This record gives sequence, C-alpha cells and structure tokens, in this order.
Amino acid sequence: TNHEVTCAYVDTSLGRGVIVTLQDTTQLEKAERMRRDFVANVSHELRTPLTALIGFIETLRGPARNDTAARERFLEIMAREAGRMERLVKDLLSLSQVEGAARVRPTQRVELHALMTSVQHALAPLAEGAGVAILVDSALPEVFVQGDEDQLRQVLTNLTENAIKYGRSGKEVRLALSEPAEMRELQGRGVVLSVTDKGPGIPEIHLPRLTERFYRVDSHRSREMGGTGLGLAIVKHIVNRHRGRMRISSVVGEGTSIRVILPLS
Ligand code: ADP
Repeated sequence: TNHEVTCAYVDTSLGRGVIVTLQDTTQLEKAERMRRDFVANVSHELRTPLTALIGFIETLRGPARNDTAARERFLEIMAREAGRMERLVKDLLSLSQVEGAARVRPTQRVELHALMTSVQHALAPLAEGAGVAILVDSALPEVFVQGDEDQLRQVLTNLTENAIKYGRSGKEVRLALSEPAEMRELQGRGVVLSVTDKGPGIPEIHLPRLTERFYRVDSHRSREMGGTGLGLAIVKHIVNRHRGRMRISSVVGEGTSIRVILPLS
C-alpha cells in the first residue's frame, strides 16, 4: 500500500503537540489510474472511426470528386463509421446514467415474463437476419421483482443481442426464468434470468474480465458486429444496482450461458 503522511504542530489551551496523519492512498491511486485508462480508451475508440471519416471526406473532395461509383462506396463506409460513433456515445451515456443512479434503489414492480416476451419480439428482426430463433422458456408463473423496467430490459437486450451476434452458428438462443440454486447467496428469495446460446463459447481465461469496460475476446469480430465493448459493463452495473448477481459460464464448442440472479420483491 501507499501512504501519504502529513504533520501539523498544534498549540492549544490544552497544550502543545504534533498531529501526524497517515492516509492510505492505494485506493485513490487505483481509482485515478482507472479513470485515466477509461479516458484513453474512449479517446482511442472515438478516434478510429473519426480518422476514417476525415480520410474519406478528403478523398471525396479530391481524387474521387467525379467518380460516382467510388462516392457511393465511400458514403456507405462513412455511414457505417458514423453509426459506430453513435453507438459508442449512446453506450457511454447509458453507462454514465447507470453509474449515476447506482445508489438509488429502483422502485418499480417489474414482471419478468412480460419483459422476456417483449425483448423476444423486439429482437426478432435481428435474430431472423442472423438465422437464429429466440425461444422463451419458463415453468414459473408471473414473477415480479422490484426494479427499473428500462434498465432490466437493457440487461436482457444486451445479453440476447450478444447471444445472437456471437452465438450465430448455434441457431438457437434461449431466454429462461427459473428458481436459483444459489438462493443462499441472496439471503432471501430470488429468481434466475438466463440467456443461453449454442455458439462457439468463450475460453475460460477471458471469463473474469468480460464485464470490464472495453474488454473484448476478439476485437476484430466485436467491431465487425457493431460492438462497443461496453455492453456487459452496463449489464453488470444494472445488476449491482438491483442487488443481484451475475454468473457467466461457457464451454468452448458448446455455448455460453449468462445468468442474472435477482432478489424477488
Ligand atoms: P461488445 O460490444 O463487444 O459485444 P460486450 O461487453 O457486450 O461488448 O461483450 C464483451 C465481449 O464478450 C465481446 O466482445 C465478445 O467477445 C464476448 N461475448 C459476449 N457475449 C458472448 C457470447 N454470448 N458468446 C461469445 N462471446 C461473447
């Protein structure tokens, strides 16, 4: 650990003396380093599409000015790069909102079946385009939790989008509600919301770092799929705010299952 020592002489009616303060600065330094890394990462992520946009604008103004075919092609790439920047800014805002509300207890009564079905419908076009079927599976009747409906929808959306994007070869993504085996952890009653795919899976070495901001198993594939590297970081913050737990299990060649365990209201 690192310490900062400060000394002060005091002269009071009770007598004279020295006050020595010893402050452990390890946590402060760690927080400061994380903040710096985050800013560096954001700058890098924004600079890549921005550099591409600037390059194409120059080319369109110069050499490609009268080349209609090239213009169409370049405009398409520019739209894609601008879209990437837009998604990044949107995810950064989400992350900052979720972090800002971290200490405020959510108060809505949210029914999880309805939420699963609505996410299934909302993502049907994406799934269809990828040749994947989203299945909803639950043996439980209505399940209510105390939460923030928009944020819980975002959890389920981010997990299901990942399962579709990365689990493509698996053809099937399953959303399920079940009773938790890990009930003791919650010191009360809870429910498990899980998203499972039969995709390529994630090597074990990556699992502990998946929820870090900008951590990607395969950067190229993530970018190609329109990923920002912030999806699981947002999920983790929302789950923490709901006093839940998140468990990621994956077997290479078999698939990935992400379980969110929430306390019941
Ligand atoms: P991204 O925006 O890149 O998808 P996420 O934070 O959502 O970022 O996910 C982090 C990384 O975890 C992804 O880049 C991907 O490599 C990996 N990943 C997430 N979900 C899955 C999944 N269902 N199957 C395989 N890999 C996954």
